[in-house]
Amino acid sequence: RSKEIGRNSFQLYKASMNARSLERLSMLSRFQYALEHDEFELFFQPLQCLASNKVASVECLLRWNDPNLGMILPAQFIPLAEELGLIIKLDQWVINKACEKMALWRRQGSDVKRIAINVSAQHLCQGELAQTVSSVLKKHQLSGHFVELELTESSFISNLHDAKSELKKLKSLGVSIALDDFGTGYSALSYLTKLPIDTLKIDASFVAKIPDEYGNSEIVAAIIAMAKALNLQVVAEGVEKPEQRQFLQKLACNTIQGYMYCKPLCCDDWLRFYHQEKVTS
Ligand code: C2E
Ligand code: MG
Ligand code: MG
Ligand code: MG
Repeated sequence: RSKEIGRNSFQLYKASMNARSLERLSMLSRFQYALEHDEFELFFQPLQCLASNKVASVECLLRWNDPNLGMILPAQFIPLAEELGLIIKLDQWVINKACEKMALWRRQGSDVKRIAINVSAQHLCQGELAQTVSSVLKKHQLSGHFVELELTESSFISNLHDAKSELKKLKSLGVSIALDDFGTGYSALSYLTKLPIDTLKIDASFVAKIPDEYGNSEIVAAIIAMAKALNLQVVAEGVEKPEQRQFLQKLACNTIQGYMYCKPLCCDDWLRFYHQEKVTS
């Protein structure tokens, strides 16, 4: 009897394994198809400088327009792309598209200062990130000074030494480095002095609790003070309310990003927003 149960559960296990590998296989081919058929699209969310009230830079955020499912957000496909080993290919597509756009805007006379690109943690040490960025910059005849890469702390954990040498190569191209979702990872603060990082992006979860929740405002204030002491730029993510903006302004946070200023927009809407901001400010 127990043998039978064992056999049945094995059958079940096998069946679910098959379903799972089939699902992976179909995701794999859907991804490949999507990459080749322009189903991915970049959205753009401006960052605002709190000293000048002007657009400081713009972050590109990936969207997947599936003909059947509609628009799919990164949370639903980035982890899968990482698991399937497709993330580097996807990142490369994003880096190329973002630099192509930035180069085009510059040629059209726009003075957008910088485009920020999210890069997966896997990419830094496994994928010759600096080599990719270098060849894309060359291809679009764009200076690295117009590009910022957003990495998370998890990018440095597996191999600090390799991460450092890769970041140094990126810096030598003029590219700046932001630490995204700061405060949510391992937060080994020694990274901040060991690695050539330019910007800290305070995670939205801290900003969401400003100014009410006990202790939270103090943490945000401490991050901003530390960033200043270390000569880093500091950005607050996910700013939705006027009181959050005021609080951050009082602490001389450099830059904010969030729905209060502007949501992520498709390319045409973002360009309209940018020109409108220039006219009115
Ligand atoms: P992230 O880099 O921290 O990007 C900020 C996320 O917060 C974006 O979500 C943005 O739409 C959202 N957001 C902006 N302002 C507000 C606000 O005021 N309130 C709230 N509630 N949310 C706000 P999104 O676009 O869904 O992206 C989620 C994450 O997916 C990103 O987090 C980033 O880590 C990753 N991601 C996005 N695009 C790419 C990409 O091209 N490559 C890679 N590797 N990852 C990407
Ligand atoms: Mg980001
Ligand atoms: Mg990110
Ligand atoms: Mg973030």
